[in-house]
Amino acid sequence: MKVLLVEDEPKVAAFISKGLEECDYQVTIARDGLSAKRVFDTNSFDLLILDVMLPDISGIELCRIIRKSNTEIPLLMLTALDNVDSKVTGLQAGADDYLVKPFHFNELLARMEALLRRARKDTDQLQILAFADLKLNTWDKTAERAGVQISLTAKEYSLLELFMLHPNKTLSREYIAEKVWGIGFDTGTNFIDVYVNYLRKKIEKGFNSKLIFTIINMGYILKEQ
Ligand code: CA
Repeated sequence: MKVLLVEDEPKVAAFISKGLEECDYQVTIARDGLSAKRVFDTNSFDLLILDVMLPDISGIELCRIIRKSNTEIPLLMLTALDNVDSKVTGLQAGADDYLVKPFHFNELLARMEALLRRARKDTDQLQILAFADLKLNTWDKTAERAGVQISLTAKEYSLLELFMLHPNKTLSREYIAEKVWGIGFDTGTNFIDVYVNYLRKKIEKGFNSKLIFTIINMGYILKEQ
């Protein structure tokens, strides 16, 4: 995990980076807002720690600038005890959490881990398409139904993904041919029907309900009975 730490006080920066490195984080330190922005733009990080009081632009301003181009990265703000207002402004500027100085290292670590967990969960949710008890992982291209793993060929996967992106909608054979095979529909063959049947066998056989239905003269639909 790569962390960008923006902190101008050498002692505080050393205290945080030493602790994090012992926990296997890779820490890059920036001493002011503008160099932080430069480092941020040219590297990739998993988390940002921003001190509010910096020699040039404030941590809050830096947070605002970063959030314009990156809304995802977990961002933890450090504020001084006598600067409680900055907590609210920091959160408004797009920080995910804040910590008041002085703090215990373990508290910093716990807050960071919570933010990273939340970020991971958000990404996981983007990867999974779900319909009824069927799940499709678009990341590793695997499917499961009611917790049972189903192995799919590349075309079966693409076909199922198309259905899962358009649940409860009738998809014509022409549309399926174009989206999955990238070709115009040839009325002389029945390959779409053949593939839909392959897919049905995999996601319906041995399970207690049908999911893909034929709409006569129209096409196919993914729906619950
Ligand atoms: Ca400072």
